[in-house]
Amino acid sequence: MELTLLGTAGPKGWPQPFCTCASCLGCTGPVVRGPACVLLDGTLLLDCGPEPAHAAARAGHPLTGVRRLLLSGPAESAPLAWLPAAGLAEVAAPSGPPPWLPAPSAGGPHWRQVAEGDAFELDEHRIRVLPGGTPGRVAYEVTGADGTRLLYAPPSTLPPEAEATRAWTREGGHYDVVLLDVVSWPERLATLRRDGAVTEDTDVLAVHLSHESPPGEELHRRLAAWGARAVPDGGLVRVGADPSPTPRPHRTLVLGGARSGKSAEAERRLAACPDVLYVATGGTREGDAEWAERVALHRERRPDSWRTAETVELTGLLAQARQPLLVDCLSLWLTAVMDAHDAWDDARWAAGAREAVRAEVGALAAAWRACRVPVVGVSNEVGSGVVPPTPAGRRFRDELGRLNAVVAGESDEVLLVVAGQVLTLRSLPRRAKHAAS
Ligand SMILES: [Zn+2]
Repeated sequence: MELTLLGTAGPKGWPQPFCTCASCLGCTGPVVRGPACVLLDGTLLLDCGPEPAHAAARAGHPLTGVRRLLLSGPAESAPLAWLPAAGLAEVAAPSGPPPWLPAPSAGGPHWRQVAEGDAFELDEHRIRVLPGGTPGRVAYEVTGADGTRLLYAPPSTLPPEAEATRAWTREGGHYDVVLLDVVSWPERLATLRRDGAVTEDTDVLAVHLSHESPPGEELHRRLAAWGARAVPDGGLVRVGADPSPTPRPHRTLVLGGARSGKSAEAERRLAACPDVLYVATGGTREGDAEWAERVALHRERRPDSWRTAETVELTGLLAQARQPLLVDCLSLWLTAVMDAHDAWDDARWAAGAREAVRAEVGALAAAWRACRVPVVGVSNEVGSGVVPPTPAGRRFRDELGRLNAVVAGESDEVLLVVAGQVLTLRSLPRRAKHAAS
């Protein structure tokens, strides 16, 4: 199966016309994206905006061979410039014929109303109609003549329901390519992964992008963490022939100051993974209502499917983990280690606590290096501000700096979050699975 992504944005495109947000004003030149429109094998079109013919001409794939148009929902804008002139035999949609469609008596294409559960063949493509997860919209599964399978999900403004997403799962195998709004709802990808519909061999393509998506390189960095990618409008994808996306980073360290957005970024990175174990190293603080509120807020933000472990026994956990881990955070872990060795006391520090703390940090770094599951760690970046007034405070600052450096040294990705903006400090290339050796 061969896809040409004529448009990859939501219904209003990216930039949105006349929008003055920073994302839209910065979106110029080759990164401009039109409404989602996918040409399959030159004959079948999935969704379209007002100008698919011009998008196709720019991509070098004229629409002259297109026989069928499948809409995932109501098509607000009419592809007027090309529809009557095209050799279109059939238009299908779930929510009634669009007003711009010429009547069959006027030489218009055959109209087909589709509903969840329908299955039919169009030329060499087998189509299954799946629930869209949003009222009035449907998703499509398309199987090509070569047996490759595609899932196309409609744009969705609603949070994902696991049941609706589960209905996309195909019995007996994974999809070769999935097109969905992964930026808005990475949880859908987690559900598809849990159900085996998306595997490491699935090419996950982000569509329905919008000014809500992060601009510039941040978009690609975020998608890569989810095992997905965005191709520019006009991009050609040969299903099964192109290399799958670069594998996701295995060990990530996210640094940042207080309220920098580091925890939110760490959680976002694992949002497309099912069954994450969240490791809270802060413990409970007897009688501290402010701390309890912070912990509750963090917990509310996490997906329901995540489990939480409150522990500071990180070394053993890293060795035994069988599911992705999020450790929040290493600075509280260090606090617990220093507590355990009474390392705040100057005399104890000089009399063996220093060696004991550093041995634990060394053991943690070794466990981090040996960890076999994806792991994201959060830590505080301190030491660039006011010098702590006490020797114990300065000691903690220095030991945390050492800890961050050794864990960063064992990570394939290191990020620094400042004011909610993510800076990549380190990103080691990992070989794509299908790349030629
Ligand atoms: Zn905008």
